[in-house]
Amino acid sequence: MNKKLPVCDFCGVVDSDKNPVISGDKANICKMCAKSAYDIICEHEGESEKVDKLPTQVIEQNPNALLKPKELKLILDEYVIGQDRAKKVLSVAVYNHYKRVFSSQQSEDLTELSKSNVLLIGPTGSGKTLLAQTIAKYLDVPLAIADATSLTEAGYVGDDVENVVTRLIQAADGDIKKAEQGIIFIDEIDKIARMSENRSITRDVSGEGVQQALLKIIEGSVVNVPPKGGRKHPGAEAVQLDTTNVLFICGGAFDGLVDIIGKKQGGNKLGFNQEKKTKKEREAILEMVEADDLVKYGLIPELIGRLHMIATLNEIDEETMIHILTEPKNALTKQYKKLFTMDNVTLEFDKDSLVEIAQKAIKRKTGARGLRSIMEDIMLDIMYELPEYSNQTVTITKDIVNKTEKPKIA
Ligand code: ADP
Repeated sequence: MNKKLPVCDFCGVVDSDKNPVISGDKANICKMCAKSAYDIICEHEGESEKVDKLPTQVIEQNPNALLKPKELKLILDEYVIGQDRAKKVLSVAVYNHYKRVFSSQQSEDLTELSKSNVLLIGPTGSGKTLLAQTIAKYLDVPLAIADATSLTEAGYVGDDVENVVTRLIQAADGDIKKAEQGIIFIDEIDKIARMSENRSITRDVSGEGVQQALLKIIEGSVVNVPPKGGRKHPGAEAVQLDTTNVLFICGGAFDGLVDIIGKKQGGNKLGFNQEKKTKKEREAILEMVEADDLVKYGLIPELIGRLHMIATLNEIDEETMIHILTEPKNALTKQYKKLFTMDNVTLEFDKDSLVEIAQKAIKRKTGARGLRSIMEDIMLDIMYELPEYSNQTVTITKDIVNKTEKPKIA
C-alpha cells in the first residue's frame, strides 16, 4: 500500500520539497504555516527582532537584543537532549558574558564584571561540544574547537596554544573584531591535569606548562598570532587579538573525579568505594564538584579560578539515546526521513529498532557519538537501492538493524 504524504493540518497543503510538512505526534504543520505562526507570536509579543536574526551586529548595536537565559535554553533544548543543568549553566554564563562585553564597551560605570568562563564535566559523547556549537551558531559568533591534548607549551612539538586563537580568527573569516567576541571550546582539559602520584603518567610532557599557557589566553591577553596559523616564522606578519572578551568553554570527562569528591564528602557517610554506587548516585556526587576537587585532580588553581561556572553532564542512557535519535531538530531519523522523501519514499522506524540502535551505541561506550556510524551502516544498503522504492514505505525493524533480515517494502 502506498503511504500518503503528510498534509498540513492548518492549510491543507501536501508535503513538498519547497514547503515541507513537519509531522508531530498529533498534528502536522507546513513550513509556511509555521513561519506565519512564528511571525504572529513575535508581533503579539512586540518583538522586533527574531531569534534567527541575532547576528553579532545586533549584539553590538543593541545589547538588549541579547537572548535571555531562558530563551537560550529553549534553543539548546531543540538540539541537546537532557543535560538540563548544563544547559541552564551555559545559558546564564553566555548571557552574563555578553552583558559584560557590552557593559565594558558602552558604559561609563567602572565596575568591572569578571569573565565567567565555563567548565563542562561529562563523559565522552554526552553533548559538551554540541552545547558549545549550538550556542555559537545561534549567537552567530565564531567558534574554535581545540583538543587540549594536542596543545603544547611553546617550543615543544605540537600545537602552540596561540594556534587556537588563529583558528578563531579563521572561523571569523579574518575579522579580528568578530573573533574577539567569539567562543573557544577546549576539549579534554582533564588530560592536561598535572599527574599526581596515584594516577599513571601517560605523557612525557607535564600538562602544567600547557595549563599555564592556556591560563594566559583564558584570563585575557593580547596574543600575537601568525594569521595563517602554524609556527611563527621570522619576518611573517603577525596579527594581534585581545582575548579579554572571548568566552572559553572547557570540557572533559574527568574519570576518577567522583572518587575524589566522594572521599572528601566524608568517606564513611558515602562510602569510600564509589565503584559500588549506582549511576545516579555517582552523578549526584559529581554534581557536588568544587574547585578544590579539581585542584586535587591536577588542574592548577589559577586555571580553575578562571572557570567560574561548572556544570556536569550525565552519561547518555538508552531512553535518552532514543530521544536523541528522534527529537532534536536535526535528529538522525529526521535527516534520513528527509533524504528518503526526496526520492518519494516514506521511512519509518519501529520502536524496537530504535531500542536496538540505542543499545548498540551504549555498547560502543562513545556516548551518542556512536549513533551516526551505526545508522550509516544500517542505512547504506537501503540507500543504495532507494530510487527503486519510489512511492513506497520502508520500515526499519530490529532485525534490519541486526542485519538478519532485508527491509520489507510496503
Ligand atoms: P562530547 O561530550 O564528547 O563533546 P559531543 O557533543 O561531541 O560529545 O557529541 C557527539 C555527538 O553526539 C553530537 O554531535 C550529537 O550528534 C550527539 N549528542 C551527544 N550528546 C547529545 C545530547 N545530549 N543531545 C543530542 N545529541 C547529542
